Amino acid sequence: MNQPDRESTDVDVVVVGGGPAGSTVASFVAKQGGRVLLLEKETFPRYQIGESLLPSTTQWICGLLGVADEVEAAGFQTKTGGTFLWGASPKPWSFTFATASHRGRHAFQVERMKFDKILLDNARRLGVDVREQCAVKDVVSDPDRVRGVTYTDAGGAEHTVTARFVVDASGNSSRIRRHVGGTRELAEYFRNIAVFGYFEGGKRMDPPLRGNILCAAFGGGWFWYIPLTDELTSVGAVVPADMVDKIQQDREAALTQFIGESPMISDFLTDARRVTEGPYGEVRVRKDYSYSNTRFWRPGMALVGDAACFVDPLFSTGVYLATYSGLLAARSINSVLAGQVEEQRAFAEAEFRHRREYNLYYEFLKAVYDTHQDETSYFWTAKKLTGGTASEADSFSYLTAGLGAGEYTPVDGGPGAPDAAARSRGRGPDEDAAMRAFWQGRTEEFTTEHHPDPNHLRLDDGNHQRLLRTIEEGWRARPDRLTVSGDSMYWQEPEPEPEPETAISAPAPGAG
Ligand SMILES: Cc1cc2nc3c(=O)[nH]c(=O)nc-3n(C[C@H](O)[C@H](O)[C@H](O)COP(=O)(O)OP(=O)(O)OC[C@H]3O[C@@H](n4cnc5c(N)ncnc54)[C@H](O)[C@@H]3O)c2cc1C
Repeated sequence: MNQPDRESTDVDVVVVGGGPAGSTVASFVAKQGGRVLLLEKETFPRYQIGESLLPSTTQWICGLLGVADEVEAAGFQTKTGGTFLWGASPKPWSFTFATASHRGRHAFQVERMKFDKILLDNARRLGVDVREQCAVKDVVSDPDRVRGVTYTDAGGAEHTVTARFVVDASGNSSRIRRHVGGTRELAEYFRNIAVFGYFEGGKRMDPPLRGNILCAAFGGGWFWYIPLTDELTSVGAVVPADMVDKIQQDREAALTQFIGESPMISDFLTDARRVTEGPYGEVRVRKDYSYSNTRFWRPGMALVGDAACFVDPLFSTGVYLATYSGLLAARSINSVLAGQVEEQRAFAEAEFRHRREYNLYYEFLKAVYDTHQDETSYFWTAKKLTGGTASEADSFSYLTAGLGAGEYTPVDGGPGAPDAAARSRGRGPDEDAAMRAFWQGRTEEFTTEHHPDPNHLRLDDGNHQRLLRTIEEGWRARPDRLTVSGDSMYWQEPEPEPEPETAISAPAPGAG
């Protein structure tokens, strides 16, 4: 194996970027004893878009990171689902996470300045050497592998640091990603541009939908309307990319015009004023944000989060994919550092799972962007994608909670089957017990009584089981596949397939 040993490098891992992807991978490696340096060019808190989160991040991955309680206590707006004015139906329809999984009861709408700082401070607590105001300039490599980075610190001094692995978590604007080779391919289907700002005094939906993300289609595109606090709302219009000139001429005028074209958003903002000072004071624009790299890694270097790929904001999957890919990369690094799995195999497993998740949401979003359909058609697509036996609506709720990877199993109260499925994917009974205790302690009942909305969705365990089986089959078809260790931090060899049951054969004639 052409890998540097511990003594010959300054650190085991250099992580570039301290957003959710970077903090996650750094924390999970440091937790297992790895020497991790994280270089972040800004000083936190810093602004970032991507405020509507999924239960799979705030509950599952934050649980593994040990920050679920802190996130829960941070005072973020609770998000129990989404409300869509979308498709052929003239009226808004809603879905809830509350029944999407026994664990996935809610997520949060977060100010990223606060959420990202919680994750970065947690990485520090776990032993990561976090250095802010340190901008990575380049990668140090030879034909065999990447061997470190060069960076400039707050005082302008230049440094070189050598590492056994470099993880690029520097987001959408990554410059060093090209060192893994390949190209960034813009998504064919999602050629949009977003223009967004912040408002005080916007209306709220009535409980229990108050904390929902509202996605409202209008003639020229769609709006997100995200309640961040009682006062503050994040409002953004997503429109086709050919509107770029108009938007760049005058962003504020463009945003105001789009709001005027959406009766629902205009109504919600009747008494609101746009914030014009501080970090929320700007009208911002993002374009070319839907893409995937053709390569996610090369020896010594991996891409995670937006540095690797991003689909589309509609279902708020960005931070989930960022944190999930951080977990996948950490498993690969931990397994290689422990000498348990060969580098090629470990990173191929991470890439397979990351792409599978990206592709799942790509297909799902593609179907939902066909606004000539109504929600029943979207629900049907979700069922088709998950291969579920549960209702179409349940399948939709399931995917929008970020449960596609099938690693995040419901555990509290299922009739035994979820635990069996979890074990078949390599999660040990101890972890199941710990997770069950964890989730039971924090869930509150959210029943149909709280849901006057007839489109309130329910999910039964059957769907989850079916999805796990579908994923399991795709995964089993790969000869080099790896499974997940009981603590979720490593890859391991799959258990041998059970022997097929053999029929008791009749005694041979004349025997006995
Ligand atoms: C219009 C729009 C709306 C979105 N809405 C949502 C949403 O509602 N929900 C959701 O989940 N996602 C949403 N997203 C996606 C979300 O913003 C991203 O997926 C998420 O922020 C990715 O996290 P990350 O850690 O990969 O990167 P980032 O959060 O971008 O973090 C990267 C970090 O790297 C640092 N960095 C960059 N270059 C260097 C360097 N050279 N050296 C050192 N540090 C560096 C940056 O300062 C930054 O802190 C949205 C995206 C867009 C475009």
